[in-house]
Amino acid sequence: MIVGAGLSGLTSAYHLHKAGESDFLVLESRNRIGGRILTNDNIDFGATWFQNHHAHVLSLLKELGIGKFHQYSMGRSVLVYSTMAPEHYFESDPNTPSAYRIQHNSHTMVQTLAKPFSKKVQVGTVVKEITDKKDKLLIKTNKGYFTAEKVILAIPPKIATRITYTPELPEAIIKVMERTHTWMSNAIKVGLTFDTPFWRKNNLSGTVIGQVGAVTELYDHTDVDGNNFALMGFVNEGLRDVSSGERKSRILEYLSKYLGQEIMDYKSYGEKDWAQDSNTSCETIKSVYLSPSYGHPVFEKMYLGNKLLFSGAETSPVYGGYMDGAINSGIRSAKKVLG
Ligand SMILES: Cc1cc2nc3c(=O)[nH]c(=O)nc-3n(C[C@H](O)[C@H](O)[C@H](O)COP(=O)(O)OP(=O)(O)OC[C@H]3O[C@@H](n4cnc5c(N)ncnc54)[C@H](O)[C@@H]3O)c2cc1C
Repeated sequence: MIVGAGLSGLTSAYHLHKAGESDFLVLESRNRIGGRILTNDNIDFGATWFQNHHAHVLSLLKELGIGKFHQYSMGRSVLVYSTMAPEHYFESDPNTPSAYRIQHNSHTMVQTLAKPFSKKVQVGTVVKEITDKKDKLLIKTNKGYFTAEKVILAIPPKIATRITYTPELPEAIIKVMERTHTWMSNAIKVGLTFDTPFWRKNNLSGTVIGQVGAVTELYDHTDVDGNNFALMGFVNEGLRDVSSGERKSRILEYLSKYLGQEIMDYKSYGEKDWAQDSNTSCETIKSVYLSPSYGHPVFEKMYLGNKLLFSGAETSPVYGGYMDGAINSGIRSAKKVLG
C-alpha cells in the first residue's frame, strides 16, 4: 500500500508495477494526483524548474519520453531592490543556461508516470489511522478499512503527524516529523495567461525580481510550443491576509509598473496559496522554518514491525524537498518493499 499520490508515491508505484508487482494500491486524500505538482490553465502552480544536477528528474523524463526546455530569459530583466531607488535592468549571461522546465507542463510528468497503473490509484481517500496487527497493517480511512503487508507513507512528515499510529511511533521520529518543514508549503503563486507575449516584443524577459513589491519573483511561463503565453511567479507573503480583490489589484498594479499596462489584458488570472491547502500545509506552521535535516536518518528505518516506511521529498538525503528528492525517495522505498 502506498499513501500519497504525489511524485514520490507515484514513483514507488511505477517501480512496483515495473517489477511485476500487481498487489498494491495508492491512496490519495485529494481528488487529483500530483500533490505539490499542480497545473491549471497550463500554469505550474507547484513545482516547475530543475537543473542539470537533478539526475533523477532527468532520467525519469527520459524514461517517460518527455522533453525539457530552458526557462525563457532573453531580453531585459527587472530587479526591484528598494522602494526609494529606481528599478535596475539586467540581461542574463547567455553562457549560463537557465533552469529547465518540463515539456508542456509539470503535470505531464505525473500523468504519464501514473498511466500504467492508473486503476490502482484511489483518490478522495484520507488515511487516518495505521495499526500494527502483527502479520499486517490495518489502515483506517474516510472510505473504510484496508489491510496491507507493507505501507509506504509518501506524504510530508509534518502532515504524517496527523495520522494515529498504534502502537505509537518512537519519540525520536515523532520529534523529527514535527520539525521537518514541508518545502514550499508557505508559497503563494500567481499565474496569468495572454493572447500575445507583449513583454517579449518590448525586449523584456518577463523576469521581475525583488523583495519590496507585491510579487517577489516573476518569469515568462510560455509553453515550449509558444502557443500559450503566460507569466508566473511568487506573491509576497505579506499579502496573504489581505482580501483576494485587494491582493489581485496590488499584484496587477505592481506588474504593470515594470512590464507595462498590457498586463491588464490578461486572458486568465489565477493564484494558489499552498499555506491554505491542508493536504500540504500544517496549520501549526507560523513562519518558514528551513529544516536543516531533510533526509534525516530516522526515515531510513522501518516502523510498526518492519511494515511501515517513510518516503517523500522531505525524507530524501539527496536534494530533499525538491522533485529530485521525491523521485529518489520513491525509488528507494520501492526497492526496500520489493526486498
Ligand atoms: C509552490 C511550489 C513550488 C515548487 N517549486 C519547485 C521547483 O521549481 N522545483 C522542484 O524541484 N521542486 C519544487 N517544489 C517542490 C516539489 O513540488 C516537491 O518536492 C514534490 O512535488 C514533492 O512530492 P512528494 O510526493 O514527496 O509530496 P507531495 O507532492 O506533497 O505528495 C504527498 C501526497 O500525499 C497526499 N496526502 C497527504 N496526507 C494524506 C493522507 N492522510 N492520506 C492520503 N493522502 C495524503 C497529498 O494530498 C499529496 O498528494 C515546489 C513546491 C511548491 C508547493
